[in-house]
Amino acid sequence: MNYSDILEYAEEAGIKHLSYGKTDKIEGISNKYPFFLISFIPYSLQGKEKYISDRACADIAPFAQANHYAELTARFKKLVSAICIKTGYKKADFRIFSNSPFPEKQMAVKSGLGVMGKNGLIINKTYGSYISIGGVLLPFIPKGLPEMQYNSPGCDKDKETWDDYRQQENTPLCKTCAACITACPTKAITEKGLQKERCIQYYASTHTIVPQEIMEKWGTTLYGCPHCQAACPHNRKDLQEREKISLGRIGSTLPLDILISSSPEHIKQLIKKSTLASSWLDTKTLIRNAIIVAGYLRCKSLSPAIEEHTHSHDSVIRDAATWAKKQIAN
Ligand code: SF4
Ligand code: SF4
Repeated sequence: MNYSDILEYAEEAGIKHLSYGKTDKIEGISNKYPFFLISFIPYSLQGKEKYISDRACADIAPFAQANHYAELTARFKKLVSAICIKTGYKKADFRIFSNSPFPEKQMAVKSGLGVMGKNGLIINKTYGSYISIGGVLLPFIPKGLPEMQYNSPGCDKDKETWDDYRQQENTPLCKTCAACITACPTKAITEKGLQKERCIQYYASTHTIVPQEIMEKWGTTLYGCPHCQAACPHNRKDLQEREKISLGRIGSTLPLDILISSSPEHIKQLIKKSTLASSWLDTKTLIRNAIIVAGYLRCKSLSPAIEEHTHSHDSVIRDAATWAKKQIAN
């Protein structure tokens, strides 16, 4: 099959910004899949849907306000169907990914779609880091591969291995900029990159005890700490062609009283089909995040619900609630 046919089918499936690469030197990908296609959604930033103004809320970053991963997956499913009809391959011969355990950042760099920033995120030359990435592993290498469509500085398909990329100038779009280093409330970013054990977003998505010094700087994040991306000069462009996805749209805030006083089962129902309902994110982690926000904001009205969580069987929730209770009392 020719790459030009794939491009045509991709367009019909709503996939823009398509790029590609060979998987031979990419860590952790079976040799059943010699090739990958990769793309991204430059998501809308019009997220200030604060629908509850008189209640304390926790914030959701733009990348999680709609289910961009599910949208990308749906588009790639359409593309795979079209390729199967044309080639006789089965759908099971392909592997779609979006926010998966596959080395997506490595594939994004290898495809020329973007480069790493000092904050550890992929930066596209045009859209910055406000992009969600997804793609598909293919069981064959298409014919007639074109010249690289994306040509971010530092991207070069001749560089075969991830180590080749690491050894060159690591963050070619950053140069001497240090805006994210300055903006990060927990000093998680250095010139050498991100230290995840200091990163609020790492904790916001991981069910583990959060160090007190990180909780003290937490801010109002329910999911998606925004500061390093908001500071990045590559994210300043107000591009009209950003996409506002409706699939799984949940908005930019959720009220703390609901998150802290409801059962995990009830919250699961409320966030159904959104990014917050993804399998990698434990609902109890969202409750823990909301408790930290309540402590950070010193929400006295939530004291009774927080008090209950100080007796939780879950040590992660109990630890956050104990801290929040002290914060509110001070
Ligand atoms: S996500 Fe937040 S804590 Fe993590 S590096 Fe960015 S600004 Fe710092
Ligand atoms: S803020 Fe500056 S240093 Fe940080 S990722 Fe963006 S360009 Fe790189």
